[in-house]
Amino acid sequence: MLSEFGLIARYFQQPGLASAGPWSPQLGIGDDCAVMSVPDGRQLAVSMDTLVADVHFPAEAAPELIGYRALAVTVSDLAAIGAEPAWFTLGLTLPEANPEWLFGFAQGLQQLAQKVGISLVGGDTTRGPLTITLQVHGLVKTDNWLSRQCAKPGDDIWVTGTLGDAAAWLPYLQQGLVESPTDEYLKTLWRHYYQPEPRVAAAQQLVALGCQCAIDISDGLLADLGHILTMSQVGALLDLSSLPASNALRQVLPELETRQQVMLTGGDDYEICFTAPPHMAKDIIETLSPSCPVTRIGQINQVPGVATTSGQPITDIKGGYQHFS
Ligand code: ADP
Ligand code: MG
Repeated sequence: MLSEFGLIARYFQQPGLASAGPWSPQLGIGDDCAVMSVPDGRQLAVSMDTLVADVHFPAEAAPELIGYRALAVTVSDLAAIGAEPAWFTLGLTLPEANPEWLFGFAQGLQQLAQKVGISLVGGDTTRGPLTITLQVHGLVKTDNWLSRQCAKPGDDIWVTGTLGDAAAWLPYLQQGLVESPTDEYLKTLWRHYYQPEPRVAAAQQLVALGCQCAIDISDGLLADLGHILTMSQVGALLDLSSLPASNALRQVLPELETRQQVMLTGGDDYEICFTAPPHMAKDIIETLSPSCPVTRIGQINQVPGVATTSGQPITDIKGGYQHFS
């Protein structure tokens, strides 16, 4: 078995991962701490996610996909506040040092790290049940970020991308399907589950436009919009017919009500839900699309809770993919 140091040097100290972005550390992997400079006029944004095998991802999945997805979902929190990804650390607990697995895992991490420009600056490696903890560090311009607390009555509610694809893959995942399916539509769902696209650039554009309120959708639109509503002390009207569905989701879930339920309550989308005053609509569409499609799905109001635009309260929609499998 490789020593801990040999393993770190071989798989994690490689330049493609340790210098994956423009913000190189002053002192990186190999010393007791990493040291980074936060430029004048910027603040540091920090977030952490822990992913446990067979709870947050199937242990049997390809290690490239495990690495890619783990970093993508953690970077999504940086996207949610409009931060620019800069550095990350990796706490890795492994049952064994399997070189093939480690190579694949590092490859997956590297693919996403290079995509968003985030460099691995340190971590910790221990033996035990497979668990991945990632801490991501990003940069924001001083006092210029998105939060959950700033929704105002009258704001439009928007989402990026499409909703529900990753959640629609979960019943297949629970049947033990791990490999990429050949069916084109199922493959789209599979890809959205394993390779979510953290909306890093789009969220930074929202900050530049003057938007203030956003969250990333990890637990389902209703749950995560709910956090905005609670923290902003407002309510929402949702136009269910406007929820953006992919072609794949329409094909796999042709029944409208089932599809809407998945789009409202399914998790793992990692899209951004944000709010903005209506006069910003044109700028938002022109700036973000076509690279990041955006859809207006409702409006913030003063009445607590969520209702449809026809005034029906959305209370009896239960969370979770189990309800349609
Ligand atoms: P210490 O004993 O001082 O805590 P370690 O032996 O845990 O140091 O780690 C040695 C170096 O390797 C440190 O710079 C640490 O940040 C880095 N490192 C350890 N594990 C990982 C990992 N999984 N990914 C990246 N860097 C790691
Ligand atoms: Mg240590």
